[in-house]
Amino acid sequence: MDENSATYSIEVGDDYPEIRDSVRRVCADFPGAYWRKLEEAEAYPTEFVQALTVAGYLGALIPESYGGSGMPLRTAAVILEEIHASGCNAGACHAQMYTMGTLLRHGSEAQKQRYLPQIASGKLRLQAFAVTEPTSGTDTTKLKTRAVRDGDSYVITGQKVWTSRALHSDLMLLLARTTPLDQVKKKSEGLSVFLVDIRQALGKGLDIKPLKAMINHNTTEVFFDQLRIPADCLIGEEGKGFKYILDGMNAERILVSAEAIGDARWFTKTSIAYVNERRVFDRPIGQNQSVQFPVARAHAETEAADLVLRRAAARFAAGLPCGDDANMGKLLASEASWHAAEACLQNHGGFGYAREYDVERKWRETRLFQIAPISTNLVLSYIAEHMLGMPRSF
Ligand SMILES: Cc1cc2nc3c(=O)[nH]c(=O)nc-3n(C[C@H](O)[C@H](O)[C@H](O)COP(=O)(O)OP(=O)(O)OC[C@H]3O[C@@H](n4cnc5c(N)ncnc54)[C@H](O)[C@@H]3O)c2cc1C
Repeated sequence: MDENSATYSIEVGDDYPEIRDSVRRVCADFPGAYWRKLEEAEAYPTEFVQALTVAGYLGALIPESYGGSGMPLRTAAVILEEIHASGCNAGACHAQMYTMGTLLRHGSEAQKQRYLPQIASGKLRLQAFAVTEPTSGTDTTKLKTRAVRDGDSYVITGQKVWTSRALHSDLMLLLARTTPLDQVKKKSEGLSVFLVDIRQALGKGLDIKPLKAMINHNTTEVFFDQLRIPADCLIGEEGKGFKYILDGMNAERILVSAEAIGDARWFTKTSIAYVNERRVFDRPIGQNQSVQFPVARAHAETEAADLVLRRAAARFAAGLPCGDDANMGKLLASEASWHAAEACLQNHGGFGYAREYDVERKWRETRLFQIAPISTNLVLSYIAEHMLGMPRSF
């Protein structure tokens, strides 16, 4: 397809109004008190995930032929945006949406038939995505977890860190090296993706330990000690796993950015309600321009990010390259949400620190978007190198 002559359209304003309304209705049953209680107990949002599954949202991107609703990426983004704009957190949902994509695009028909209908119905959770390792960090191709073929099995040894929800998921998508780095032509070769059944593997070479973090993300460290998994857990072809993971990254960035947009909208709405109500020096604090301007600026940034992300999703749906927009959108959305968060916390004065207002919780949560799933520097380096033609730096 000639991408210059390709046409696609972007809807502005509140697209998918019925879905937005319906997501808001589901979220209304999960107010701030629910999330605060979960955080105190470091618990998983079981009831919330269940409610979204029943409403059909967790299977939004799974094709109808596998029991899902077969919606476009933009619809999934709208669902996540509304969850966050309602003050909730969609961590578990976005993980399932994009992790499932690797299975959908590269899995065998037998794997898809076996897992996707059960994931769509909520019987199985595929919410753990094990890529990051403690020593290699963002330099993914240097990861050290090894998967060695032995007859009808692979034997896995290594360690992952920040594998979120591994203790609450049935399945885990794992990226491991099948050919040692010094035996491949390109460092991106020799990595493979596996779908590990956590239920069968726990205690038999798989150990998962909770990792205490700044936010309640149910994140973990995962240890593989000679874990033997059936060879048919391999997704696609051996050695091509890095390409499969990269394939899913634009969708992941678009979805995660939608959450940042939702956060930004929640912070802005919360700021406005508070500054219009709170009276100091016998007038609403919102009458002071120094209080208004950071909120106004963040709102403008949010709208700009939203437009770029709508373009990214439209290009994705049209089968056009969307990496540029997905990366720029991610950068802009993560910064817009952080600026909205900063304004909201500041405008609440001391009450910004009071747990019952939820501002400090959302403030901590939204900061993550500048680090995970990809840090701001790495996005900037993509824009500098791939879009603007400056020299490769690493
Ligand atoms: C709450 C949470 C949940 C997570 N969930 C998951 C998950 O489910 N699965 C998973 O696989 N991972 C997960 N992660 C990991 C996350 O994706 C990584 O933390 C992130 O990609 C950054 O990697 P790193 O922490 O190793 O940072 P590093 O790679 O060590 O980088 C540290 C800092 O240095 C900067 N930096 C590094 N190299 C360069 C360079 N060449 N140029 C400029 N700057 C550079 C980075 O931008 C960053 O700011 C999660 C992390 C958190 C905090």
